[in-house]
Amino acid sequence: DDDSRIHAIKSKIRVVPNFPKPGIMFQDITTLLLDPKAFKDTIDLFIERFKGKNISVVAGIEARGFIFGPPIALAIGAKFVPLRKPRKLPGEVISEKYVLEYGTDCLEMHVGAVEPDERALVVDDLIATGGTLCAAMNLLERAGAEVVECACVIELPDLKGRDRLNGKPLYILVESH
Ligand code: AMP
Repeated sequence: DDDSRIHAIKSKIRVVPNFPKPGIMFQDITTLLLDPKAFKDTIDLFIERFKGKNISVVAGIEARGFIFGPPIALAIGAKFVPLRKPRKLPGEVISEKYVLEYGTDCLEMHVGAVEPDERALVVDDLIATGGTLCAAMNLLERAGAEVVECACVIELPDLKGRDRLNGKPLYILVESH
């Protein structure tokens, strides 16, 4: 059932204290990828959630949204659009800056990858403060798409990132405190 699948998924995520800097509890999904059953269950849970919802585009956030997004997109018959860090995409782009704990970062999307009125799902591995997902949603909405939902494997609920999503639904598989 769902609970046993989710429990197994959570058990495969390695938590690495003080990476990449002191005080961060890094949630390492590479150990989940090493277990084919848990990896497949992760993708299947997303597919079960999003199939039949008329989603035309899955937007994956660099880098770990590129691992989980494409298999979901293929299974639900949607296209996949990468949202990348600056200066990686060769075509014309739109950009969204966002604030990090120290400094700022930026996501870019190719102009023309998404058409007005498309129905979008945004995928990443983890939501912390919600700044990254917020920037991703802004890119899609600037292109005229409707963001139907966001999806992450892991939520850090103590950081209240959900509150930054303007009421947009967020589907997650596991919480980490
Ligand atoms: P945020 O914009 O604060 O919600 O941060 C989310 C982004 O940063 C995602 O792309 C995550 O992959 C990464 N991230 C933030 N905190 C962690 C963490 N504790 N462990 C792993 N990745 C993290």
